[in-house]
Amino acid sequence: MSSRRVVIIGAGYAGVMAANRLAGSKQLGDLQVTVVNPVADFVERIRLHEVAAGSRASAAVPIRSVLGGRADFIEDSASRIDPDNRQVHFSSGRAPLGYDGLLYAVGSGHVSSGVPAGAYGFGDAKSAVRLRARLSQLGEGAAVSIVGAGLTGVELVAEIAERYPLLRARLVSRGIIGGDLSRSGQRAVRNRLAALGVEMLENTGVQRCDDSTFTTAGGVTLHSDCTVWTAGFSVPDLARDSGLPTDAEGRLIVDESLSCPDYPEIFGAGDAVRVPDSVGSHLRMSCASALPLGAHAADNIIARLQNRSPAALSAGYVFRCISLGRKAGLIQTVTADDRPRPFVVGGRLAGLAKEQVCRLTLSWIRGELRRSGSFTWPKGPLPADVAMPVEAR
Ligand SMILES: Cc1cc2nc3c(=O)[nH]c(=O)nc-3n(C[C@H](O)[C@H](O)[C@H](O)COP(=O)(O)OP(=O)(O)OC[C@H]3O[C@@H](n4cnc5c(N)ncnc54)[C@H](O)[C@@H]3O)c2cc1C
Repeated sequence: MSSRRVVIIGAGYAGVMAANRLAGSKQLGDLQVTVVNPVADFVERIRLHEVAAGSRASAAVPIRSVLGGRADFIEDSASRIDPDNRQVHFSSGRAPLGYDGLLYAVGSGHVSSGVPAGAYGFGDAKSAVRLRARLSQLGEGAAVSIVGAGLTGVELVAEIAERYPLLRARLVSRGIIGGDLSRSGQRAVRNRLAALGVEMLENTGVQRCDDSTFTTAGGVTLHSDCTVWTAGFSVPDLARDSGLPTDAEGRLIVDESLSCPDYPEIFGAGDAVRVPDSVGSHLRMSCASALPLGAHAADNIIARLQNRSPAALSAGYVFRCISLGRKAGLIQTVTADDRPRPFVVGGRLAGLAKEQVCRLTLSWIRGELRRSGSFTWPKGPLPADVAMPVEAR
């Protein structure tokens, strides 16, 4: 039998996890794995707030330091997928590449639409470098406003406030800051931000902004030398442009096994896919989801190539790990479907744990090179778990 090829589009957490798991698998000796990514770096996106604040020079590591030698690497962007002819086309114009299996793992970036002119979008490597340059130009007392108090906004404002104590760092939240944390988690985040001197504006929507001000939905205009938009990640248009089924945000629609309903040889994993609610209503765009999705998709690609039925995804969470500057953090324990439990760990210990988790992500990815299938993850929620309110337990 001639060798079969799996093409993986995107070398982020999901893509490289899957590539190593597939390339290391002994179940398909004749398998060729080819990874496509626009640059020859793996970007540790979970460290981009460190890069933006200047506490870390770069979040990029050479792709070959995480991607095993048994996988081929093409430095290029996929410009179109032709699902009928099973080919990937490239932006550079190089010859299209055929596949027997495809993994769509193009991830996400910063919000491209909806960021008001005058604000800095944040979420990918370029935006982190741009923001770092701007922060380094600001003088003492300049106001930096981070809009959006999700995990990214909280981590970014803490990092900036710690690194630049002479700037006025401000976190602007449409709701309560840490609203999706337990009461003890909320307290820990607020105490830490207050200790760093972060001004917290809650229940405040931002309507518009320019280079030096922003205006709230309530019509109040505040001075801001740098306004950063962290709310929501956008996904590339590749699936939509290729005529594949997508949701309104452009995420590839997959079934419970992560395969594309119309094209069973195409699988998806990570931020750029929409998993059905039956197995994924609790899943958020995160590295914590991208790794299990990438691993599960790899296992199902093998199953499909062996004419076995792919298995439904079951993936859940145990905790959220948030950095609050270099010297502190928060570990928020959660249910499998990501609802906060009362127990949290804060302070320096949690900061060290978060750093350890960042390192572990790379170890888990590299671990697949030594032993394919070594990465395991918490199972998803059982229907009975989802019904019960946690803080009341
Ligand atoms: C500041 C910050 C902090 C974060 N902290 C955490 C955290 O603590 N915990 C957590 O779980 N998550 C965190 N996240 C979220 C996490 O980084 C993302 O959810 C995760 O990176 C998604 O992984 P992925 O593999 O789907 O995609 P990505 O990591 O985005 O990788 C996708 C890859 O695909 C490539 N690509 C895109 N288009 C194409 C194309 N056309 N052709 C070829 N390649 C393409 C991209 O260049 C990229 O290399 C954080 C994010 C940010 C920005």
